[in-house]
Amino acid sequence: MTDHVVVISIDGLRPDAITDEDVTLQRLIHEGTAARTAQTILPSTTLPSHTSMLTGLTPAQHGVTWNSDEVEPSGTIGVPTVFEIVHAAGFSTVAFFAKSKFHYLERKGSLDHDELPGFRQPSWTMARTMPRIESLLAESHPNLLFVHIGEADYLGHGAGWMGPGYLRAVGMADEGVARVMAAADQSFGAGHYTMIVTADHGGHDKGHGTSDPRDMTIPWIVWGEGVQPGGTFADTVHTMDTAATILWLFGIPRPANWVGVPQTEGFTAEAREKAAVKLRGG
Ligand SMILES: [Zn+2]
Repeated sequence: MTDHVVVISIDGLRPDAITDEDVTLQRLIHEGTAARTAQTILPSTTLPSHTSMLTGLTPAQHGVTWNSDEVEPSGTIGVPTVFEIVHAAGFSTVAFFAKSKFHYLERKGSLDHDELPGFRQPSWTMARTMPRIESLLAESHPNLLFVHIGEADYLGHGAGWMGPGYLRAVGMADEGVARVMAAADQSFGAGHYTMIVTADHGGHDKGHGTSDPRDMTIPWIVWGEGVQPGGTFADTVHTMDTAATILWLFGIPRPANWVGVPQTEGFTAEAREKAAVKLRGG
C-alpha cells in the first residue's frame, strides 16, 4: 500500500520516558496508532532484540544471544533479515546503524546501502549520522529505510535510566526523529510514507537485559500513509511484529516460521484492503 517505509529504533527508549516535551514522538502517538506496552525479547539487549525486530524470529530461532561485536567477527546471522526479503522482492533497502555489532545483520545482498562504525570502533552519535541520512535522502528514495539512534542508551548506561541526563538524550532522539521526517518529507513527499518508531529494549538503573518489565517494555508507534489516526493497539505488540508489518506494508508474504505478525489493526480499512490485494498479487 506504500512505496516507502521508514523504521526508527531508539535504543533503550522506555515508553514512560516520552514526555510532553518530546513533541515529535507525541505528535506521532496522537496522529498514529501506538502501543505503550509492546514487548521485546530476552535477553533484552541490543543485538538479540534488533535481530528479532528485523527477522520476525525469536532468539531461540535466530540464535543471537550475544551482544558484542567480538563473537565471530566476520560472520552474519544465519537467517534472512527483513532487508533481505524486501530487497529480493525488488525494493531498495538502506540502513544506518549506530553500533558496530550490527555487522551481524549485514547479510550478503540484503542492503543497497548501509553505514555503521567499523569493527570494535566506538558507537556513533546523531551528529555523525543525521547529515548522512539527509544527504542520502536528498539523492535517493529508498523503499525501506532503517535508522538506529543510540543516544538514549548511551546516557542510560552513563547516567541511569529515567534520570535527567537520560531524559535529555530522549529529547535529542525526539529531535532526530523530526530530522528524519523532514528529510523523508522532501525525499518521498509529505504523506507518502509509513513510519514505525520503536525501541530494542528499555532499562533501569544503569543497565538492561533482564526480564524486568522496565527492560522488556518498549514503545511501538505507526504513523503516516495508511495509518489509522489516534488509535491504540488492543493486543500486545511484540518486537518481531516490526519485521512482519514491514513485509505486509510492501505486500510480501512472510516466511512460514516467522513468529511476528503484521499489526494491521493500526491501519485504515482502505489500507488493509490495498495490502490484501497486493498480497494476492493484484
Ligand atoms: Zn544498552
